[in-house]
Amino acid sequence: MSKKIVRASELDPDFKFDIAKTHEGETVLWCVQCGMCTANCPYSEVWDVKPHEIIKMILLGLREQALNCKSMWTCATCFMCAERCPQGVEVGNVMFALKNIATKERGIPEGLKLFGQQIYKTGLSAKITGFRKRERANLGLPTLPNVDVESIKRLLKKMKFDELIDEEEETA
Ligand code: SF4
Ligand code: SF4
Repeated sequence: MSKKIVRASELDPDFKFDIAKTHEGETVLWCVQCGMCTANCPYSEVWDVKPHEIIKMILLGLREQALNCKSMWTCATCFMCAERCPQGVEVGNVMFALKNIATKERGIPEGLKLFGQQIYKTGLSAKITGFRKRERANLGLPTLPNVDVESIKRLLKKMKFDELIDEEEETA
């Protein structure tokens, strides 16, 4: 966490309650800042803000800093943090609460938009290459089922996901 003087007037004391009110963030207030989540997070070495620091930002009311941190967008949702937290804080889920607020207020990062566009257009999170199909056949695995892209699109539209990823409305 970069060192910076923070004025009390910049703090949002209600932010932690906003997070705790959400289903994903309901455990956030139990944190005692022991650092076990960071010690066990596979990403913490490379993150600008570590898992326990994100929780600290929330508890202190550093709303802007927490919502601007890049770490949450690359959380692998592996839940090692929650496995090891002695207080039962579900840090990975708290990340979701933060991401939901950040998305509502300022949208999602460009890189994730591209990822979302791929899911929207193909119904798949990863491209199935010819190589992968051949390898499956060589291993005797069944062929992959066809993806019902239109049903997936309809579902995503209902959730207004298409608006989040700047996907143009298609006319029938
Ligand atoms: S392991 Fe749990 S109690 Fe410890 S810093 Fe992380 S969230 Fe807080
Ligand atoms: S869920 Fe996210 S924050 Fe928790 S250990 Fe995994 S990568 Fe780290």
